[in-house]
Amino acid sequence: MEYDKNNIFARILRKEIPADIIYEDEYALAFHDVNPQAPIHVLVIPKKEYVSFFDFAEKASPEFVYGFTKAIHHVIKSFDLRKDGFRILSNHSVHGGQEVPHFHFHIFGGRPLGRMLTPP
Ligand code: 5GP
Repeated sequence: MEYDKNNIFARILRKEIPADIIYEDEYALAFHDVNPQAPIHVLVIPKKEYVSFFDFAEKASPEFVYGFTKAIHHVIKSFDLRKDGFRILSNHSVHGGQEVPHFHFHIFGGRPLGRMLTPP
């Protein structure tokens, strides 16, 4: 799948549309999900054009993977989620239920999150 430069997260990265930004560095931008599924529901997106995790894993340099991972770690620490716990999730394509075609991790926390998947 080719990267769509006008997807909503690309537009947030270019600051064309607003987002409730939590953290930003050279690798990542983190902001609150507009439709939160938990008391804490944050999206962390890379500052490069990757469609999904698959794309990221194939194309990102070791330095970028490291920097992006550290940014996620920083966001989790900033919400003090280590003790009570949290969930990281990334959707890929149709079966994954991916809506926005710019790679992102969801970080959920702030309550017990239940089982990982609901039965079909
Ligand atoms: P996906 O299904 O692609 O993994 O998740 C996309 C997420 O992006 C959804 O949780 C949705 O609520 C969130 N989202 C979609 N559009 C916007 C937006 O314009 N701003 C923010 N902050 N979140 C968005």
